[in-house]
Amino acid sequence: MKIAQSLILTFILLSNFSLKAQDYFEEASLKEAIQLSESGAHKEAYNMYKRLLSSGGEISAEFPYYFAKNLYDLKKYNNSLNFLQQYLTYHDSEIRHKTEAIQLERKIGQAMSVIQSCPLCDKSGFLLVPCDYCEGNKTIDLTCQYCQGKGIELCKKCDGEGVVISRNAFNENNYTTCDRCKGQGFHGCSHCEGKKIMSKNCPECLGSGDKKSATLCTHQTESHDH
Ligand SMILES: [Zn+2]
Ligand SMILES: [Zn+2]
Ligand SMILES: [Zn+2]
Ligand SMILES: [Zn+2]
Repeated sequence: MKIAQSLILTFILLSNFSLKAQDYFEEASLKEAIQLSESGAHKEAYNMYKRLLSSGGEISAEFPYYFAKNLYDLKKYNNSLNFLQQYLTYHDSEIRHKTEAIQLERKIGQAMSVIQSCPLCDKSGFLLVPCDYCEGNKTIDLTCQYCQGKGIELCKKCDGEGVVISRNAFNENNYTTCDRCKGQGFHGCSHCEGKKIMSKNCPECLGSGDKKSATLCTHQTESHDH
């Protein structure tokens, strides 16, 4: 069956879920899964939908709608949208929940735009916590390789001599104190500006300063009122 095949493919492409044998039900049916979902048992319903999908049997054209609805309740918006969009490719005469599906698509869009504009979570809605590698600093400090952490480099203008030799009008050597290093022969490292360290983007968080946690974000940026 065409619908079943394309659904299974979508499922495989999207699935980063772990299949747990103990979550399987003896007899999975779409009706039961819908009932579970409507009773608020979204996780259990989800497992039943998964079982239905991987059973290889004939799948109702209504399946992607119900699965998408349950995925929406689980806040898995991207996956939900994928199944919904698939459902909406079916012909009007094949499906019964077109209006509801369009409404749900709009709700997902709204939920996703809240996530996009929320500074507290990543794009899949999980709360961001400070990166533990850089402790939220976004950068890490490394010893300057150029000066090996000394903070100084040999003066290029005078080759470390401290004096600059030039010829005067009488073709005589003129010795003047090097203005670049003020006669010292060295000056602050031009790479680290004498700081001995170089800051570079944290390799763990790539400079974002945070990482995704396992907690779903509530997208409430206001502080609590007491
Ligand atoms: Zn970091
Ligand atoms: Zn110099
Ligand atoms: Zn340096
Ligand atoms: Zn958020």
